[in-house]
Amino acid sequence: MRTLVTGGAGFIGSHLCDALAAAGDYVVCLDNLSTGRRDNVEHLEGNPHFEFVLHDLVEPYFTDADRVFHLACPASPVAYRANPVRTVKTNVLGTMHMLGLARRCGARILLAGTSEVYGDPTVHPQPESYLGNVNQLGPRACYDEGKRIAETLMIEYHRQHGVDIRLARIFNTYGPRMQADDGRVVSNFILRALRNKPAELYGGGTQSRSFCYIDDMVNGLIKLMQYEGARRHEPFNLGNPHEVTVLELARTINRLAGAGAEPVSGPAQQDDPTRRCPDITRARTELGFEPATSLEQGLTRTIEWFK
Ligand code: NAD
Ligand code: UDP
Repeated sequence: MRTLVTGGAGFIGSHLCDALAAAGDYVVCLDNLSTGRRDNVEHLEGNPHFEFVLHDLVEPYFTDADRVFHLACPASPVAYRANPVRTVKTNVLGTMHMLGLARRCGARILLAGTSEVYGDPTVHPQPESYLGNVNQLGPRACYDEGKRIAETLMIEYHRQHGVDIRLARIFNTYGPRMQADDGRVVSNFILRALRNKPAELYGGGTQSRSFCYIDDMVNGLIKLMQYEGARRHEPFNLGNPHEVTVLELARTINRLAGAGAEPVSGPAQQDDPTRRCPDITRARTELGFEPATSLEQGLTRTIEWFK
């Protein structure tokens, strides 16, 4: 199996490359290294079944593949806001280029979509049928709307050209190889704790998220790619439904790190979703997906890595 992983030098992509290479695939890891790091896949570079390609998917790319995991896109608010037009181009042009490749090769393609398609949800927890509440003019729109149009491109390439698509909607994922400086809540709070500084709770910390450990996410992505059932062209939420407030997260990280100071309130962020929790009934039923790592186990491993 020749498997192309776009965004393969990033946080999730590099763990996926590890799992695919271990399973015996020939892995082509394509990345422009904008938010990813060569270090993340350095240990794979001597492997005769692994190849790194430096390429920006805003430009077309031609290779042969049986499977495409399409993950290339900056993922944290700090990273996708740094160049919002480029974020839109990556989602639109990058996804079109990969769909064109999949069409030409007859490859199956999986999109790393996001819970952000639900925006600031008015339905809780969020099932795949929820159509979302996204502000198309807000600061998160380059990412949220970019991922929404990426889903539209996927389904239209399927309907019009018969491309064999898989749609993952990934909820907040954390673990080793997260970037330290990308402003995401888990990395921010761990770094604060390890430096004995207080976590800053944007908007007071009553908002919630549901955090999935990286190993569980990789497992879910591979299960979805392999799934042949009747619902294979529909979207699948992937995440851990254990929901915590941002304040609870900060306290848990301080306790596990054995350090940190009492969290403080910081300014609220515009369009920050107030609650987020996946309804994973579809993934459980169809894929047999079940997150196995508790928040405490996953955070303990992540804190060790950050140390
Ligand atoms: P990441 O930033 O670590 O990885 C993204 C990778 O894509 C990076 O290696 C980056 O260099 C690469 N990239 C970005 N633009 C590119 C371009 N134009 N051409 C080629 N490569 C490009 O982020 P991540 O957390 O690993 O996220 C991976 C995917 O999963 C993204 O599509 C993201 O939207 C999605 N996702 C992640 C989360 C999460 O919690 N981490 C949640 C929902 C969705
Ligand atoms: N957040 C926070 N302090 C930080 C970083 C983030 O309170 O130092 C909050 C942020 O406002 C959001 C939640 O934590 O409500 C998750 O933020 P993240 O950027 O990790 O992910 P996303 O908002 O995309 O889910």
